[in-house]
Amino acid sequence: MVTKRIVVIDDEGDEREVFVPAQWEICCDCRGTGGSSAYLGAFTSDEWYDQDEGFQHDYMQGRYDRPCDGCGGSGKVLSVDLERCVSEEQKGALDYMQMEADIDAEERAILRQEARLMGEY
Ligand SMILES: [Zn+2]
Repeated sequence: MVTKRIVVIDDEGDEREVFVPAQWEICCDCRGTGGSSAYLGAFTSDEWYDQDEGFQHDYMQGRYDRPCDGCGGSGKVLSVDLERCVSEEQKGALDYMQMEADIDAEERAILRQEARLMGEY
C-alpha cells in the first residue's frame, strides 16, 4: 500500500511521523510530463514568430523545460486517500496538515497585503 508521510509537531515541539493511505495521481501542473516551460511565460503569436527557428525547435522539444514545481519532475503526486484514513492518529495528522495549509495561506495573504501597501505609498 502506498502511504504518505506527514510530520506532525506537537505542542511540546516534538516531531512525530504519521503514515496515511495515499495514491499516486498524475500531476495536474505538468500533466504528468514532469517538466514545464511555464516559467518562460506564454508567447503571443507575434512574439512566437519573432523567435528564431532554432529556439522554436528546442522549445517544442522541451529543451527549456524545468522540473515541475508541483511534483519535483516525477510527473506524479502523492495524494492522501481520505476514505482510507480511519485511525484517530491518521485523522489527527490530516487535521494538522490542513491547519498548516491554512496558516500558510494566511501568511501569504498578509504578505500580499503588505506588498500592496508598499506599492501605494
Ligand atoms: Zn508536475
